[in-house]
Amino acid sequence: AETALRQSEKLAAVGRMASSIAHEINNPLEAITNLLYLIESDQNMEARTREFLTAAQSELNRVSHIATQTLSFHRNSANPTPVRPAELVGSVLSLFSTRLSHPDLRIKRQSRGDAIIRGYPGELRQVLSNLLRNALDAVGQSGEIIIREQACTHARTGQAGVRITIADSGHGMNREVRKRLFEPFFSTKPATGTGLGLWVSKQIIDKHRGSIHARSSTHPRHHGTVFSIFLPADGPIARTDAT
Ligand code: ADP
Repeated sequence: AETALRQSEKLAAVGRMASSIAHEINNPLEAITNLLYLIESDQNMEARTREFLTAAQSELNRVSHIATQTLSFHRNSANPTPVRPAELVGSVLSLFSTRLSHPDLRIKRQSRGDAIIRGYPGELRQVLSNLLRNALDAVGQSGEIIIREQACTHARTGQAGVRITIADSGHGMNREVRKRLFEPFFSTKPATGTGLGLWVSKQIIDKHRGSIHARSSTHPRHHGTVFSIFLPADGPIARTDAT
């Protein structure tokens, strides 16, 4: 019988492949999306044709979701650069501004200290946008999301760095979900889920020599989830063997 370790190595390899394919297909996908918008604006289209078009667009949506969840993961970043986590959070929030502007959503932002770390900004932005999207999916139309970042030293290791937390008042996760959430392709979202978001996020945080974990409750009166990321100030190991 296959060991659990082998099984998870296999899954990880398949996940890496999926995410590099997603990266490759993103540009043509964007082109198709734009072309379909152009076609949509044709006033003389027959009702049946419009139906087909709508179906094509919703399938396309799903593929795009895979691509955006994993997009910058395999992008060949240059060397790590100084990163201001406060700026990262700001740019991700503005990316989601339309979805965040719902009247029953409360978004709170808390920023303490002016931390600077070393890392790959594009990839870290990817992590934050995956976590924010999940928080939004969990709260639905109404609820609260609190994003915090602050300079700190790691409680256990004493390392200097920054802690970023994203807390939501959404439905929370049961024990089964909590156990599996970082597995590639594990998803509880039947229509839109790919199960790659957290897996990719974990790879990126590992690469930065940081850590990510979640606490969650499904209790009817105080349900919700907190994702917490620690990033050390000195960041990833510089690639000296770059080709
Ligand atoms: P996807 O969002 O495509 O399902 P992810 O890897 O991002 O893939 O997440 C895996 C699963 O973890 C989700 O399907 C969901 O069940 C759970 N999850 C992640 N974030 C949250 C959250 N903030 N609240 C509740 N469940 C979450």
